[in-house]
Amino acid sequence: MHFTFGIIKPDAMENRAYGKILDDIAMAGFQLAELKLVKLTEEKAKNFYSMHEHKPFFDELIRYMCSAPVLCFVLQHEENAVEAFRALMGDTDPKKAEKNTLRAKYGKDITANAVHGSDSEESFMREWKFFFKEEELLFNK
Ligand code: ADP
Ligand code: MG
Repeated sequence: MHFTFGIIKPDAMENRAYGKILDDIAMAGFQLAELKLVKLTEEKAKNFYSMHEHKPFFDELIRYMCSAPVLCFVLQHEENAVEAFRALMGDTDPKKAEKNTLRAKYGKDITANAVHGSDSEESFMREWKFFFKEEELLFNK
């Protein structure tokens, strides 16, 4: 089994698209291994996105990520969970994302793009530990 970490972001929580997104994720062959509703603090959001600290969009990204509770999850997939979920999400910019991807269907713009997904195995290991305790996980790493 392979795993990845994802977040349903504030815009998709506020416009109530989260149910449809979870349904699309399930229909694409992913299984939920963990799920949690979290209200990010500014400190936690800055830490989570620390690699973007010097980018021009950083402040806007942090404000956005703290604007509403988000749904954090770990997904299982038969193989290549990280790549498979990135493909399901589509391009960072919903306008450039392929039709039928989560960002094309549910994202508003390049900041409010509905979902996050780990971009590598290393990111997955860093990111799930941000939100879940080892003993909470429903799988063996
Ligand atoms: P991804 O989420 O596709 O891995 P990045 O890691 O590059 O994309 O960026 C993290 C998040 O920062 C994006 O999902 C998006 O919410 C926001 N973001 C990225 N690029 C921009 C941009 N040019 N302008 C505004 N927000 C951006
Ligand atoms: Mg990224």
